[in-house]
Amino acid sequence: MPHDLLEGFKRFRKESYESKEAMMPGLVEKGQDPDYFLISCIDSRSNPATIFHARPGSFFTFKAMGAIVRPYKKGTALSAALQFALDYNNVSKIIVLGHTGCGAIKALISDFEDPEISSFMDVTQAAVKAAQDKTTNPENLHRRTEEEIVLQSKTNLKGYPSVARALAEKRVQIIPWLFDMEQGDIFEYDKVSDTFINKTNIGNLANKSCDSKKSGCC
Ligand SMILES: [Zn+2]
Repeated sequence: MPHDLLEGFKRFRKESYESKEAMMPGLVEKGQDPDYFLISCIDSRSNPATIFHARPGSFFTFKAMGAIVRPYKKGTALSAALQFALDYNNVSKIIVLGHTGCGAIKALISDFEDPEISSFMDVTQAAVKAAQDKTTNPENLHRRTEEEIVLQSKTNLKGYPSVARALAEKRVQIIPWLFDMEQGDIFEYDKVSDTFINKTNIGNLANKSCDSKKSGCC
């Protein structure tokens, strides 16, 4: 019995239904109107609702290993969700949220052998190659690959008809982010410098205890 989840739900109910600032009754009555569509990894440590302290109704979310967006194919869960968010809910920002210490990406660059997983990950080989072109340092390869996969996901998103329409009509932007779990910051891709730059600059936590490099994810 997952008592810890139910205890968490009781706190959520108190804050979101019963407090003075409770938002759920209004959202249930009037419906949702989120501005964002977040695509994140399935990793339990980079859950967007947790790391952004999100209030109910803040964003749509879609999760996939490594935050990987595969090339468009009609009728997939992602293509339907994007169409629903963009065409019927006026979402104006799509955020691809990768994260450091990603076990899925570690598996990818270490030739992890599992046909079910590798058949999903194989679309990212171009991103691995791009990362290898940008660094010869094996220690940096993992981070570079995480960044390149976020960028490849952005490119693949443009092939989804609902996204292409929204981009052509200038009613959506796609934002590539990387959550640095060790440091505790959000990095955003900057086209001019062709690098990910720190958007939060809260301070370096790298020396504090963190086992994320050991434990991986997913
Ligand atoms: Zn991950």
